[in-house]
Order: sequence, then structure tokens, then C-alpha cells
Amino acid sequence: MGLQYKRILLKLSGEAMAGEKHFGLDYPTVQRICESIKACHELGAEIAIVVGGGNFWRGRQNGSMDRTRADHIGMLATVMNSLSLADALESLGVETRVQTAIPMQSIAEPYIRNKAVRHLEKGRVVIFGCGTGNPFFSTDTAAALRSAEIGADIIMMAKMVDGVYDSDPKKNPDAKRFETVSFSEILAKELAVIDSTAASLCRDNHTPVLIFSLEDPRNIVRAVQGEPIGTILRE
Ligand code: UDP
Repeated sequence: MGLQYKRILLKLSGEAMAGEKHFGLDYPTVQRICESIKACHELGAEIAIVVGGGNFWRGRQNGSMDRTRADHIGMLATVMNSLSLADALESLGVETRVQTAIPMQSIAEPYIRNKAVRHLEKGRVVIFGCGTGNPFFSTDTAAALRSAEIGADIIMMAKMVDGVYDSDPKKNPDAKRFETVSFSEILAKELAVIDSTAASLCRDNHTPVLIFSLEDPRNIVRAVQGEPIGTILRE
């Protein structure tokens, strides 16, 4: 099977990096994810990654903490995950570049759109750290923003669920998974699958989003080959 999507933006939640531990990094899990990313790379996909930070930090954990400061810590958590992904990919022989929205030049490049695109064209996997660089945003929104900037064909959003259902599949064994759902429906019904800022940005920029599960990391490879896994969000 060939490639369905050439340039992809893969959004990984921080939680996906923690595996069964649910906190911090689980190296075998990170390694497995990176092996699948490598397989996509070998098929010829251009891969950019936005990673969350929820395995280290979830926004304002102490109710009295200043929101902006808490979000700064969250953005730093995404850098730890970005560097870990870069390390695991490089140990598999895949060239990477980390670019951060908040400059930290001694450990990563600053985010420069044209440079990121050039890296992708040269076959490097580009990992975007620090989300959008702004508090009050999420890494889902960072994925929507960066994918529009680099002209990604699709955002592949790995979640803990394998798509969007008409009812909760954990409670209802007859729950049906939708093949596609419109962004307007996501917004109107307040479906929690991606946040509203990310949904409206993707709608306005005509960027489809595939919601799929990483329970089997090979799903990343199936997704770039266009296999009908998960749910596609589109206009
Ligand atoms: N964050 C932020 N601005 C951004 C992206 C992320 O302030 O543009 C912060 C925010 O505090 C968030 C944390 O970083 O809670 C981790 O990101 P997110 O919760 O999106 O990660 P995930 O749930 O995907 O692991």
C-alpha cells in the first residue's frame, strides 16, 4: 500500500508518551511510537510532530497558581517530550530537528516556518515544542496552527479513543463510530474530541483531522496509507 498523505502533522498527547505509567516517559512506549514514525518516513511521508505535555503537567494543578505561569510550565513539559522523541528517532537513524515556539537556542532551533518546511523537504522529522508559545492555548490548537503554516495534508491526532462515536462506547456496546464528522457539528454539539479553538482553526483553513487510537502504534502507518481507521473531521 502506498501513501495517502504526503505531508502530515502528527499530534501526540503527552499521555501517549507515558504508556501504562500514566506519568512521565515510558521508554519502550516512546520507542514503539518512533518505530512507527520511522516506517511512515520510509514510505516517503514528510512528518511534523506536535506533542503535548500532560504526562508531566496539566495546566493549573494548584487552584491558586497564576494561569499564565502554569501554562508556561506546561509548555516547558512539551519540550521534554519533544527532546525525548528526537532522541528516540535519532537512535533509530531518523534525522530530526526540534523547533520551539519560545526560543531556547542552546537546546533547540527557534520556530521558523520556512526553515521547518525546508527540513521536511530534506526528509527530516520536525518536532514543534512549546505549543503555540502562548498561554491559554492547547497543543491541539498548536497542531492546527502549525499544520496550516506548513501546508500539511492532514493532522493525525492520536487520542485515547479510536474515533468519534454516537454514544460512549465504554457504556454502550452498540455505540457506532462515525467515519466522518464536520467541524461545525463538533462545535455545535460541543463534542470534546478536540477543543473549539483547534476545531475552528481547522475548519477555516480546510485542514482535515484524523482522530485515531495509538493503542496499536502501527495505526500511524495504517493512517498514512489511508486505511479507514478512526474518524475524519472535515468541513
Ligand atoms: N500549553 C500552552 N499553550 C500552548 C500549548 C500548551 O500554554 O499553545 C500548556 C498548557 O498549560 C497545557 C500544557 O501546555 O495544559 C500541555 O499541553 P496539552 O494539555 O495540550 O497537552 P496534552 O493534553 O496533549 O498532553
